Amino acid sequence: MINRICIVGVGLIGGSLARALKSAGACKEIVGTSRNRQHLQTAKDLNVIDRLETSLSAAVKDADIVVVAVPVGAMEAVITSLATCLSEKTVLTDVGSTKCSVIEAVENAFGQVPTNFVPAHPIAGTEKTGVEAAVDDLYKGRRVIITPVESTSRDAIAQIQSMWEQVGAEVTQMTATHHDEVLAATSHLPHLLAYSLVDTLSHMDEKTEIFKYAAGGFRDFTRIASSDPTMWHDICLANADAMLAVLEKFSGDLKILERAIRDKDSQCLLDVFQRAKKSRDTFCNE
Ligand code: NAP
Repeated sequence: MINRICIVGVGLIGGSLARALKSAGACKEIVGTSRNRQHLQTAKDLNVIDRLETSLSAAVKDADIVVVAVPVGAMEAVITSLATCLSEKTVLTDVGSTKCSVIEAVENAFGQVPTNFVPAHPIAGTEKTGVEAAVDDLYKGRRVIITPVESTSRDAIAQIQSMWEQVGAEVTQMTATHHDEVLAATSHLPHLLAYSLVDTLSHMDEKTEIFKYAAGGFRDFTRIASSDPTMWHDICLANADAMLAVLEKFSGDLKILERAIRDKDSQCLLDVFQRAKKSRDTFCNE
């Protein structure tokens, strides 16, 4: 059993990890810290954390593992503060949605990437934020991607892998660059498209009518546009290169569809739709 885990940022992702670790009986004490005492008090009242600390150095003292679960845009500042108070014995990990930017922040803060830092990203979440939205089964059956660098200690990786496995997740490994490319395509681009579509429609004159008649498909497609705007702002900027590459590819493919509609090119439209249906049906049945 893990003796003490400190969670920096007890929101949806950090709070759900705390809840899951508690319900798995995997940790003796969970300490929470963030900027806002009231948020931490709520986390304590909800029994998500055992102890709250407003001082980062007090929070991480004697922790076996420190999990940084703050928005990607706040990672650099938090990690820079951590570098001044973290024991070498403590394993440091994060849950950020982009990995190259977090590794770079750690390298800047510590002078080099410490061997006991394990970059990680749980592929789980909802469009909600805050500790009130935290649940104990968020990670059951979900993947967690670990993106170690060459010098990352095997023992540290094993500890983080075990922590995630105890809350029901399946852990895989890949490089941070590959992670950022894959997630740009599968998560970051869809969020950008959902925000963009809803924004476009909300500017149209007949918008009340449009939203009034929006059916299930529209709700399914745009659910993620209810996600936290600041979080997705941070992710788009932190993963700019991979985002721009996939956006350019997508814009080109969208132009092909536009041309097919204008030219009444049935074959082109059917080819694209049939290929897409086959891919999605296969992936959803996996
Ligand atoms: P969230 O619910 O808004 O929680 C973020 C937490 O960070 C809050 O408890 C906030 O508490 C704290 N925080 C913000 N700035 C801080 C700072 N400068 N110093 C210390 N604490 C700070 O967000 P979330 O959805 O859990 O996301 C957290 C991380 O998980 C992000 O890096 C995100 O990319 C990643 N992630 C999210 C999802 C998802 O679907 N939501 C999925 C996978 C990974 P205070 O306001 O009290 O400071």
